[in-house]
Amino acid sequence: MKIHSIGGEFALIERLARHAPVTHPDLVAGIGDDAAVIDGGRSDGHYLLATTDMLVENRHFRRDWATPRQIGIKSVVCNVSDIAAMGGTPTFMFVSVALAPHTEVDWVESLYAGMAEACRRHGVVLAGGDTVTGESITISITLLGSVSPPNLRLRSHARPGELLCVTGHLGGSAAGLALLAAGMEAPDDLREKHLAPACRLDLVPAIAPLARAMIDISDGLAAEVNHICDQSGTGAEIVAAEVPIHPSVRTAAQLTGNDPLDFALSGGEDFELLFSISPPNHQRLADRGVPVTVVGRVTEAASGRILTHCDGKQTILSGGYDHFSCRQTDAAGAD
Ligand code: ADP
Ligand code: MG
Repeated sequence: MKIHSIGGEFALIERLARHAPVTHPDLVAGIGDDAAVIDGGRSDGHYLLATTDMLVENRHFRRDWATPRQIGIKSVVCNVSDIAAMGGTPTFMFVSVALAPHTEVDWVESLYAGMAEACRRHGVVLAGGDTVTGESITISITLLGSVSPPNLRLRSHARPGELLCVTGHLGGSAAGLALLAAGMEAPDDLREKHLAPACRLDLVPAIAPLARAMIDISDGLAAEVNHICDQSGTGAEIVAAEVPIHPSVRTAAQLTGNDPLDFALSGGEDFELLFSISPPNHQRLADRGVPVTVVGRVTEAASGRILTHCDGKQTILSGGYDHFSCRQTDAAGAD
């Protein structure tokens, strides 16, 4: 039996989790969120956060598209984004690399210079790792962080009646990837979005105390809304006309024969935040000028997960990146 035939990446993770104990009195949240949450008995009461993400050459990055500096930045940022999604602050990082035997030292040093740049930006300290040889380059980063319990944002905390909001603009990374994959010239902003993305740790202090459920957008908005619904036992409605599409995406969509909305809903690697929030708390964010966009609302589970199109037609909200689905290409994809 192949992995795609059991339902893909997330069905596989569920199966694998059955092989090992997944509960412990100190484990506040384990498999199923952006990071594990551990009550380490710290004197300040903060929980420990731990997340891990891996980038594989020719799957997540291509050395002919991305500089080592860009790959270093991206490898750190995708982990920082997961800590941000928990409402937390990143701390210590462990980097394991598999390097092909012919890899140039200069290339690895530039990779680490890129990592260091992202670490400085986000207050992350490199605390260890592992170095081995392999067929192709693989970078696996484990990032620790901490969060005060009132700011902890789980995927499971959404409730019907809350608004669904996103930070920033969506679809830029996927549009950049589509142009690169088609061998077309990608504008600098889309190249940067795909090859050396930023994440929204900067908005966490404003958003985390007021939000309910939160997740980062690494697999596309549609997939992340579905993750929140799965974990919270709710439904959701996303309004297509409200989805903030990155300004350069429309041209890229035209050039590559895609729908700009698809880039935003299914593309992935935007590393923006999606969160649910009560209407009064959303008003507080708006009053403070925090730049977020309402894209829909949380509904009862029985209402399903719905996408309302611009013409009023409603369809099931589906799509998103899955490593084992049949539709993915060999291009550098979501994490
Ligand atoms: P994200 O996109 O936020 O990085 P993932 O989709 O990679 O999250 O993973 C979802 C959840 O499944 C996380 O809690 C992660 O720790 C867990 N997970 C992923 N792969 C495995 C695995 N091979 N074994 C155990 N847990 C896993
Ligand atoms: Mg995540």
